[in-house]
Amino acid sequence: MCESARFAETDAVLQSLVNRSFPRAMSSMTSEESEGILRKARKRSDLGPTEYLRTWSINLLDLPTEELVKLVFDIFQDVCPPEYEIKDEVLICFLTAVASHYRDNPYHTFLHACYVLHAVWMILTTTELSSYLAVHERLALCIAAICHDVDHDGLTNHFHVNIGSEVARRYNDASVLENHHCALTFAILERKNCALLASLPKNIQSEVRRIIIQYIMGTDMSNHFKLTSELCQLELPLLPSDGDDEIPTELSVEDRVFLCKAVLHAADISNPVRSFDVDYFMAERVQEEFKNQTDKEKELGLPVMAHMDITSESMKYQAEVNFINFIVMPLWKRLAELFPSLDLCLHQMRANKEKFEKLAEYAKSEESEASEGADIQ
Ligand SMILES: [Zn+2]
Repeated sequence: MCESARFAETDAVLQSLVNRSFPRAMSSMTSEESEGILRKARKRSDLGPTEYLRTWSINLLDLPTEELVKLVFDIFQDVCPPEYEIKDEVLICFLTAVASHYRDNPYHTFLHACYVLHAVWMILTTTELSSYLAVHERLALCIAAICHDVDHDGLTNHFHVNIGSEVARRYNDASVLENHHCALTFAILERKNCALLASLPKNIQSEVRRIIIQYIMGTDMSNHFKLTSELCQLELPLLPSDGDDEIPTELSVEDRVFLCKAVLHAADISNPVRSFDVDYFMAERVQEEFKNQTDKEKELGLPVMAHMDITSESMKYQAEVNFINFIVMPLWKRLAELFPSLDLCLHQMRANKEKFEKLAEYAKSEESEASEGADIQ
């Protein structure tokens, strides 16, 4: 097969994916339906643009997809630069299309993407982050957040590589899912009625594409420790004081890209900074998804990752304690050093960790009592 035919084939795979779930999102959505969603979103926005969203303790767990789309619409309206004149209809079509491409997994769903976008937006609006970024960089970060797991199938890169899946072969085993999420994001953005970036100047369009790719690729968990240690090296220049509207120039473009990558990755693992109810619910969903995979791995005789093979209640809670201690806390600690208003997230995370520790202790003592009982019998 010649090279261009191969590219055409990959393109055809993506387009068929886009077409597969587009009917609901695009073709069959009447203009009245899309107007209806817009009307409702505007009504809520009139109440006080995005104020109802400005809390880390927001609970989105029971919201139907249509409500989540409206909420995401409100966030995007807040970050879409007015000078680019992005039409509401295009925005709602894009968001509906993205939502329809998230699968019905236990964890990697549109709900997860909404939480990640919300966390990114909270960091953008409650810290100095926005002051370091150009308007198109803020928009790119939000697009990357809502699209970063699009069409995730609930399996890890490791699994895809081990079984030599079609998507692993397509991306040569490298950041397989992230490559797929990225490619699909742009396949959606290329649809005429979803062309969110079409009204941006050409040079900005290319820059936005370049940085969205870097942001999404940065969500590959295998980059976590490198990214955390690099964030510890990053220093932010002091911002100009009030009344001085000089734009900080000391943070280079590449440092800004890196900072946004770190923010998106931190948002991606931010469940422990939410209320305990949300954190607990999400932790259960993650573990259900892990179990689905480890069951498949055992059935196929494939290696199972130790951290995914949870076989008791105490292990389940201890896994959350470890996740907070070794993964989330070091990254968020550094983020809170750079942006001190995130301190409250650290407090919440410590409180959640204590609850998981207590649950783990309790489950452990129950399990040892049960095994002693079994020994006596
Ligand atoms: Zn994610």
